[in-house]
Formats: sequence, structure tokens, C-alpha cells
Amino acid sequence: MDNKMSMSEWLDRLYPAITRKLSIDTSLDLEATELLDKLTSGLKTSEQELRALIEGKTCLVYGAGPSLSDTPLKVLGDRSLVHVAADGAARFFIENGMTPDVLVTDLDGGNDVIQACARNSIIVVHAHGDNMVQIRELIPSLLESKAKLILTTQTIPIGKVRNFFGFTDGDRAAWLCHEFGASEIILVGMDFGPEIGKYSKPYGTKVDLKRKELKLDIARQMIDRLASERSISASPWFSAGNDSFLDNQEVKKEFMEAAILQARKGMAEGGIPIGAVLVKGDRIISRGYNKRIQTGNRMMHAEMDCLGNALKNRGRSEVGGSTIYTTLMPCHMCAGAIIHYGIAKVVAADSKTFPNAKELLEREGISVADLDLEECRLMLEDYIENHEEYWSRISDDVVSSTQNKNQLRLGELYE
Ligand SMILES: [Zn+2]
Repeated sequence: MDNKMSMSEWLDRLYPAITRKLSIDTSLDLEATELLDKLTSGLKTSEQELRALIEGKTCLVYGAGPSLSDTPLKVLGDRSLVHVAADGAARFFIENGMTPDVLVTDLDGGNDVIQACARNSIIVVHAHGDNMVQIRELIPSLLESKAKLILTTQTIPIGKVRNFFGFTDGDRAAWLCHEFGASEIILVGMDFGPEIGKYSKPYGTKVDLKRKELKLDIARQMIDRLASERSISASPWFSAGNDSFLDNQEVKKEFMEAAILQARKGMAEGGIPIGAVLVKGDRIISRGYNKRIQTGNRMMHAEMDCLGNALKNRGRSEVGGSTIYTTLMPCHMCAGAIIHYGIAKVVAADSKTFPNAKELLEREGISVADLDLEECRLMLEDYIENHEEYWSRISDDVVSSTQNKNQLRLGELYE
């Protein structure tokens, strides 16, 4: 992709802007980088191992924001995922008897945390002008305990010390996953809000709130920058309110075309032409279409069929944070399922025929894109026109409660 971050974009534009904003002495960053390289002479870093761990996998990147505590424990223990903790967030693992696969740290998240991770995790140690004391103090013991180390800097890379971009532990963790070929990056506990979580570093010490705010802002911008070159999603239990970067899933025509194909498939079987596909990252993970007539099951809406297939074949964690493309705006039942399973975004081709649950979805913090495609509207309208007899027979048993009665009836039948 042409939007790929380059070393010159980082060193010539972003890094100077950040260091100016925070009044950082860049020569100290360089000094720290040299120090880290010197202290680890003879070390073989674990970059190969990290690549083997991350490449092609779904990576959860844990920040220390307040919503970290909402993470279900079974997610932490899910071995099909790669767990990458930014500094203080690792404490949440340790408190629950686990360690993350990767710890991204500038060594001020607590020595106890680092020691707890030293046996199991790959530790990505970052050097900057402010942590030379910690580097001198902790690197020898990490080497002694034969910890798996990777070394990073925010300035010009020297020797074994690399620069994979990013600035705070949290956004660097996401950039690291990107660099090492993660198929999926899901942010957990990265709230970017004014509230500071209890796992946030420096653990238990007084923090300069103004500086912290500036750093959060930089972290967010770095995540935005990464999201401009690949898709990133947030965990379904992410507390809403910071959603600008969540809505980075680019709407793609090819995915809606795949949903339309599903609708046509249903129509060819004599069914109601509504189709859906579920998209994670850059690929379709399940498909479905309305099977109400074919099965006699009123609940077999396209979205239910599609979500059901995804849950059966992929599992719940993969469904979370995905985008559903559907040829018609979801009804309230499907919206309920979409909310329940943490779908991040709905892309609908038509909401004119039936507006359905658009408002409900948006109220729940789900991003809704309405493409208003004539093709889908006509497909459904044609179907309604040609099946009036069936329609008038079945619409009577629909119970409607609120709003426009006809609309709800139509929605119930055709969605
Ligand atoms: Zn529905």
C-alpha cells in the first residue's frame, strides 16, 4: 500500500513533531539507544520468534485504560489469539494468574511485572531519554534470566535496537504487531479518554496529568496513522465514546456485491432476496441469506443466518469487531444479535424500503453506513410486487407495537 509508513516519514516528520510537543531532548533518545545496544552486546534478539508467533494471527493489543478490567478472562486465556500487553496492562494478566505472550515496555510499568513476564513472554524493551536509569538497572537481570528480548527505540535505530514506529507503549505494541505480520489487530483497554485506569503506569505513582493527556493524544494519533494503512478494530467490550478511529473499516464495494449475490441466491430458491456477509479485517468470514420461506422459520433473516454461520465456524471472538454487509437495514431482532455479538459496523445497501433498526444500532454505538443502492431497493420492491398474494396472507399475523404499523409489518416479513 502506498500509505505505508517509512523511516523518513517517522524520523523527519512525526518524531520531530512529537518531541517538540513534549519538549523531549532527542539527543538523550540517541544516547539511550546506544546504551541499550551496548548493554546487550552478544544478545541474539527474539525477532524471529516474534514473527513466528504473530504472523497471520489475530493479535490483541492491551492498553491500561479503564475498560481493560472489562476483558473477559476467557479471552485472556484464549491460546488461538496472541496477547500483546503494553506495560502496565500486563499486571491485569498477572493478577489473573497469566502472562501475556508479548510485553511492550519502557521498563516503568513495575519491576514486578517485568520479572513475572521474564520467563514466558517476549519482552520488547524500549529505550528513550527518560529511562536510562531503568535500562541500566533492569537489563542485566533480564539478560541473566535469559528473557526473550527485542529492543526498540523511537529515534535512529542502532545495532540490535530497532524502530518499528509508534511512541507510547500502547501504540508501539500495535505497530509492532503490524510490522510482524498480524492478520488482525484488536485494541483492548485503549480508551484514550481522560479517565486513567488503575493499571496505568507508572503504577501507583503520581502522574503529570497534562503530559499524560498529551501522550494519550499522541497514542491516538499514532493508532489513527496505523489505521490509515490497515484495518484495526476495538474489542466489543470497549467502552464507547472514543469511536473516531474505530470506524476505520473502509466500506468496500466487493463485500456488498458478495451480499447481493447471497440475496440473489435466496431469490433463486424462491426466497426473499436479502443477503449478508460478515467481514473481518479484509476478508469475508461468513455468508448468509434470508431463508424464511425455504425453512418456514420466521427468524431465519439474512443476518441471523450469516451470524449463525460465523459463530459456528469461526467462534465468538472472531465475530467481535467485525463488519456486517447486508442488502437491507437490519430489523430489531437482527440488530439485537449484532449488538450482542459485538459487531462494530453495519453497512446496509437499502434503508428506504424499511428503515428498521438503524436508530437502535447507532444508539448502541455501532457505526452504520447506508449505501442507498437502487439495485437492492428495486430487487426487494420487485419481489414485494410479485408476491402480493403471499404478502397479504402472511402480514396479518404480524404483531406490531410501535411506530408505523405498515412499516413494521413489511419489515417483519421482508427483512
Ligand atoms: Zn432481521
